[in-house]
Amino acid sequence: MTTTSSKLTHLSCSRCGEEYDADQLINLCRACEKPLLARYDLAKAARTLTRASMQEREPSLWRYEEVLPVRTRKAQLKLGEGWTPLICAKDLGSEIGCPHTLIKDESLNPTGSFKARGLVMAVGRAFELGAAELAIPSAGNAAGAMSAYAAKAGLPAHVYMPEDVPDAFRVECSNLGAEVTLVDGLITDCGARVREKVEEFGWFDVSTLKEPYRIEGKKTLGYEVVEQLGWRMPDVIIYPTGGGTGLVGMWKAFDEMEEMGLVGSERPRMVSVQSSGCAPMVRAFEQGEEFAEAWQGAKTVADGLRVPAAVGDFLILEAVRESDGAAIAVTDDEMLRCASQMGKHTGVFPAPEGAATLAGQVRLLESGWLQGDETVVLFNTGTGLKYAHLWS
Ligand SMILES: *Cc1c(COP(=O)(O)O)cnc(C)c1O
Repeated sequence: MTTTSSKLTHLSCSRCGEEYDADQLINLCRACEKPLLARYDLAKAARTLTRASMQEREPSLWRYEEVLPVRTRKAQLKLGEGWTPLICAKDLGSEIGCPHTLIKDESLNPTGSFKARGLVMAVGRAFELGAAELAIPSAGNAAGAMSAYAAKAGLPAHVYMPEDVPDAFRVECSNLGAEVTLVDGLITDCGARVREKVEEFGWFDVSTLKEPYRIEGKKTLGYEVVEQLGWRMPDVIIYPTGGGTGLVGMWKAFDEMEEMGLVGSERPRMVSVQSSGCAPMVRAFEQGEEFAEAWQGAKTVADGLRVPAAVGDFLILEAVRESDGAAIAVTDDEMLRCASQMGKHTGVFPAPEGAATLAGQVRLLESGWLQGDETVVLFNTGTGLKYAHLWS
């Protein structure tokens, strides 16, 4: 079996620090039920993962192989994930008074969203550690990405979706070979159904931050943005937050990069954007809470942001605060308007979640929190095409 150059050493709990052997199928910390994080021998990784060596590597997230958890070549379930363009959005930026605006266009990933980054790692690791079947509760893009990588690995996949899920998401999963079950209820009800099945049949649950590796895929967003900026940090990163894997992942990536000597101690200010119809992180941030209370009656057209309670809430809040960042809510109407504005001025047709970052940027410019001469990276996390129903 051909091995990768992964320098994965072990897992440690993000809350209590308890350590675990990485080479076992595992979900949350057994002691405190918080997310587990992958740890690497970064000194060893730094010997080969250098600015110079990066220049010859493949244009995908696998260019950061040393700091990715997949150990065997056959579990690198490559469909072309990562190394998406960082687009200069000067016209859009000038219109809103912030010319150094860039868009990391994640719609170019397999299955049209950045969920591919996380799921290629979670499914790849589950596959190499011997999982027999996979399951996920999802109202959107995560299910499509899981289905695609499960298909590539040849593993049976089970998807639980709320029955009002848009056709595009459901049809995508079933055509990728997953067994789709529509649940009369919310995403939380889907989660409960998955937990039952996991216990009954021993399926492996790949829910966000409930296994250690989705965040490892998502952290490559941080590596890529900094590498694409010539190893410089932007001033501000604006991220549409549901479960927060990307935000927490990037924050982890920056620490790893510093430890490997790729960057210094500078950091961008991290902004978490949510929908005013589901803004548990914004509320907790404003109230100075360490954890976020679950949001009642969550409602937004941005499926990726309809996450009333996130397992990694304290990690999101920690990253935003440590970075001197901000958390703000925008309305669904603003998202839909900003999607067209972004589309017209940049050629990128964003998902409403991606458009939310522009709405957030406009608000932060108006309030003076953001200065017009700062370099800002917006994340368009998915393609607008799966949400065409919102404009028809
Ligand atoms: C899942 C999703 C999000 C939220 O990502 P998290 O890492 O869960 O915060 C944002 N945008 C889109 C398009 C998504 O599918």
